Amino acid sequence: MIIDILTLFPEMFAGPFSSSILKRAQERGLIKINLVDIRDYSTNKHRTVDDTPYGGGAGMVICPGPLFGAVEHITALRGCKPRRVVLMCPQGRPLGHELAAELAGEEHLVLICGHYEGVDERVRERLVTDEVSIGDYVLTGGELPAMVVVDVIARLVPGVLGEAASAEEESFSDGLLEYPHYTRPREYRGMVVPDVLLSGHHERIRLWRRRQSLLRTLASRPEMMEQAVLNNEDKEIIKKVIKDLQNLELS
Ligand code: SAM
Repeated sequence: MIIDILTLFPEMFAGPFSSSILKRAQERGLIKINLVDIRDYSTNKHRTVDDTPYGGGAGMVICPGPLFGAVEHITALRGCKPRRVVLMCPQGRPLGHELAAELAGEEHLVLICGHYEGVDERVRERLVTDEVSIGDYVLTGGELPAMVVVDVIARLVPGVLGEAASAEEESFSDGLLEYPHYTRPREYRGMVVPDVLLSGHHERIRLWRRRQSLLRTLASRPEMMEQAVLNNEDKEIIKKVIKDLQNLELS
């Protein structure tokens, strides 16, 4: 997968993209990240790319020219028009597991990082195919959101995570939060690992984890239950939990 990132601050990406899983994914050729400095497409000798807003008001707006120029350059470089040109934008589609999986299925993505007041509206109208928000708050620029997008989609690219199953079992992948994890030591400051996890009994461990997953989702994110795909076994577990709670109230 190739990801071209258009930014005014390419140096911001150095740390996150040169460590850990993202570094290895690039070294193994599973993802290729290309940082494009928007200033390289400025049309003036001072390399400025922004201007004051028509109609007045505070802040600066990134002009359309450099962004159109950069995407046209990418089109020539890659030999075809990018299918998905994604603008990082607080007004965009909220980033969740479903959108991440959709983007991870693409062979090529262009991410545009806005700054200042944002980008000229004509960029959104003509150049951009998707707008993605990482949450209902406003950051100073699109660089951190682009890093979040790259990170979340990279781990969904086959082969990026060592263990094939690890992305499949995680929170949100099946509409539920994930179960708790424990490692050594067996007892730490009086807190012990649940016996079932030491039993070696795979079916009991599977059932315990599923129950924990359902309980956590019910307790922390009950609204997720409406979308979660529940099988008969899950429904039985939930019925039993409700019954146990009712018994607890009566006693
Ligand atoms: N004036 C814009 C508004 O009110 O919608 C906010 C501009 S913000 C200061 C500058 C840039 O940061 C945006 O163009 C966008 O690229 C990025 N950005 C800020 N918050 C974001 C968020 N929650 N999700 C995605 N991108 C964000």
